Amino acid sequence: MAKKRMKVGFVGLGLMGSPMAMNVLKAGWPLRVWNRTADKAEPLVAAGAARAATATDAARGADFVIVMVADDTALDSVLFGENGLSRGLKRGAILINCSTTSPAISFRAATALRSISVRYLEAPVMRSVQAAREGKLQMLVGGSREDFQKAEAVLKSVASDIHHIGDIGKASTLKLALSLVAATMIQAFAEYFVLARKTGIPFETMMDVLKVGPLDSQPFRYAEQVVVNPGARPSFYLKHMLKDVNLAMDLARQMDVPMPLTSEVRQMLAAAKNLDRGDEDFAALLDLMAGWAGVPMRG
Ligand code: NAP
Repeated sequence: MAKKRMKVGFVGLGLMGSPMAMNVLKAGWPLRVWNRTADKAEPLVAAGAARAATATDAARGADFVIVMVADDTALDSVLFGENGLSRGLKRGAILINCSTTSPAISFRAATALRSISVRYLEAPVMRSVQAAREGKLQMLVGGSREDFQKAEAVLKSVASDIHHIGDIGKASTLKLALSLVAATMIQAFAEYFVLARKTGIPFETMMDVLKVGPLDSQPFRYAEQVVVNPGARPSFYLKHMLKDVNLAMDLARQMDVPMPLTSEVRQMLAAAKNLDRGDEDFAALLDLMAGWAGVPMRG
C-alpha cells in the first residue's frame, strides 16, 4: 500500500505526543488526533490533522495508531475504556505504544488486541521534548520483526535511531533499565550541585568543568538547563520519573534483583512528589536536596 493512502491515528498529545504527532503530519501521513484534554489538539488541527471526537474515532480507518500517554492506567483507559481505541481499530491495524509503561501491560494489550486481529508494538522512546520536536528520538521497539518492518516508515517520522530489541516486553524492560540509570544520574547531579553550591563554587565553574570532562552526558545537559533556566516550563515531569523508577523496581522485585541505588533515588522522587512537586522537573529534586543541605539553590 502506498504511504499516502495509509492513515495514522494519534492519541496522547502531552509534552512528547504533541511534537511527535506534528512530525507524523509533516511527514505527509493523513492524521487523526485525540487527547483527553481536547484543547491540546488545537495546534495539530490548525496544521491539518483531523480532530477525533473520541479515541475510538481516532482509530477508525487507521492503519497505524500511535499512543503516547502517561502510564499503564492511561494506556489501559485509552485502549480498553469506554470509547477506547479497541472499539475502533480495524483488522490488520498496528497499535504502536510509545509511552513508557510496564512489560506486563504490553503482554496484556498485545493478547487482547490479537483477539480482534490487531497487532501491537511497544516503542518507548529516549531523549527529550527537543528531540521529539526535531524528529530525532531514540526508539526501542518490541514486537514481531514483521510488524516492526511494516511500521518502520511511520516510526521514522518521529525517531532517528530505531532499535528492534526483540519480542514484546523486551523493549519496555530495556527502557525501564535505561530510566533507572537516568534517574540515578539526575540524583547524582543534584548532589553535585548542592555540595559545590554549599562550598561556594559558582555554577558556571561546575558546569564548564563537567562539560569538558568524562562525565558529560545528555542527562547532565538536561540538569544544566533546569539549573540555568529556573522557572522554565518542565520538559519531563518528576511524576513520570517516579513512575519509571517504580516500574523498574517492580520488575526488579519480580526477578529478585537487588537495586539499592535505585531504591534510594525512589525515596527522593516519592518525597518530592508528596511535597506536591510531581508536575515540576528535576528542579524539585534539586530544591529538596538543597533544603536538606541548608543551602539556597536560587538567588
Ligand atoms: P505528559 O505531558 O504528562 O502527557 C501525558 C499524556 O497522557 C497526556 O496526553 C494526557 O492527557 C494523557 N493521559 C494521562 N492520563 C490519561 C488517562 N487516564 N486517559 C487518557 N489520557 C491520559 O507526559 P509526556 O512528557 O508527554 O510523557 C508521555 C510518556 O512519554 C510518559 O510515559 C513518559 O514517561 C514518556 N517519556 C517522556 C519524556 C520526556 O522528556 N517528557 C521522554 C521519554 C519518555 P491530558 O492532556 O488530558 O492530561
